[in-house]
Amino acid sequence: MSDQPEHVVIVGAGLGGLRTAQQLRSAGYQGRISLVGAERHAPYDRPPLSKQLLTGEWDAERTVLAGPDTVEELGVRLHLGLPAVALRPGDGGHELELADGSALRGDAVVIATGLTARALPDQPAAVHTLRTLDDALALRAALADAGSLLVVGAGFIGAEVASAARGRGLDVTVLEALPAPSARALGPELGTLTGRLLTEAGVDLRTSATTTGFADVPAGVAVELTGGGRVVADVAVVGIGGTPRLDWLDGTATGAGSDGAGLHCGPDGRVHGLHAVWAVGDVAAWDDPVHGDRHRHEHWTSATDQAAVVARDIVGAAPPPRAVPYFWSDQFGLKIQVLGRPELADGLAPLHGNGLEDGPVRGTVAAYTAGDRVVAVAGFGAARLVARYRPLVAANAELAQARETAAALGG
Ligand SMILES: Cc1cc2nc3c(=O)[nH]c(=O)nc-3n(C[C@H](O)[C@H](O)[C@H](O)COP(=O)(O)OP(=O)(O)OC[C@H]3O[C@@H](n4cnc5c(N)ncnc54)[C@H](O)[C@@H]3O)c2cc1C
Repeated sequence: MSDQPEHVVIVGAGLGGLRTAQQLRSAGYQGRISLVGAERHAPYDRPPLSKQLLTGEWDAERTVLAGPDTVEELGVRLHLGLPAVALRPGDGGHELELADGSALRGDAVVIATGLTARALPDQPAAVHTLRTLDDALALRAALADAGSLLVVGAGFIGAEVASAARGRGLDVTVLEALPAPSARALGPELGTLTGRLLTEAGVDLRTSATTTGFADVPAGVAVELTGGGRVVADVAVVGIGGTPRLDWLDGTATGAGSDGAGLHCGPDGRVHGLHAVWAVGDVAAWDDPVHGDRHRHEHWTSATDQAAVVARDIVGAAPPPRAVPYFWSDQFGLKIQVLGRPELADGLAPLHGNGLEDGPVRGTVAAYTAGDRVVAVAGFGAARLVARYRPLVAANAELAQARETAAALGG
């Protein structure tokens, strides 16, 4: 334990950054921890921003993950409202420069700077994106006075915004460039199921729909559609994904590509090519030794799981058991859950329910397969069933085993 760092500097005071600080203390680290955050807010949680905060069920205070008391108990020095602007690696420690010109020296650095929401070309300032608490508060205020909403992009965040807006009684149009919503995360078949959730709730969902740009209208926002026509609404949100926030690292030898792939890390979170620098969360692309590739998760649970791995690596403790990737989305009163890595699949096999044969979406559970192996399981409003498949996904089990489990659970 004696060669533990004296000062761990964590860049990014969101979920991954905060959890790294907490996990360091849980692992027995007694040295200094500094947590640097670009935003002025105390560390807060993002999933409620497109759910409870937008519907009005929660106020902003409920999203806070660590208030002043928690931070003090953790013994963490918080630097809020101060983005890091450069990292200068050195043999005897690294120097992190902050926007006010001050610098922090640490002998271990953890990068947890998350994503920037992507915008469309020439997107007007009045059009919303949703990544931060300030974004969510601005969108909520706009929805309060609106009768109609246009959402560009039917990924999870776009669909959740549509769900919240329908709940508030707005007319909602959703444009999606791909043939099905959430197809990148779920594939076309289960993406089509999420599309049914949208249309059954009265959303005007237009798939394979692209835009050529924004048009000037006297009130509200208008987008021009490829092939003609336009959609006009009081409020518009663009939800077309995010880009890893690595611009501030320009010039540092991080091995990060400019391809949006994130910071390349080993399976312990160590950034390739940089000594004593780790990365966690949405910004980090870790090597996956099980599947022999590298993957960047944009999931709440992954940021938490990775923080535990990194904290234990920093203090020289054994890693925790390998976690199964997991994410969820709450839309139209139903929870969508995915365990594992659907993007590795070449097939899909129904396990429960008959949503894939046009039956009810709720209760549908399916396995994603690569050859005869289960690489992921997804469920719609079927939390108790989905949980039963976690060990099978973790073990990369054969589909036959998943079918046996399904039969034992009553199909
Ligand atoms: C609206 C929304 C809803 C979501 N819903 C779900 C969900 O239902 N289920 C799910 O699994 N996942 C969900 N997610 C994803 C989940 O919230 C993220 O995976 C998680 O927040 C990742 O944590 P992170 O620490 O990597 O990034 P973040 O939580 O984004 O934290 C990064 C922090 O770094 C700060 N930062 C950036 N640049 C700098 C800099 N140069 N210097 C200092 N600080 C900097 C940022 O201000 C930010 O606070 C949602 C995300 C959003 C935006």
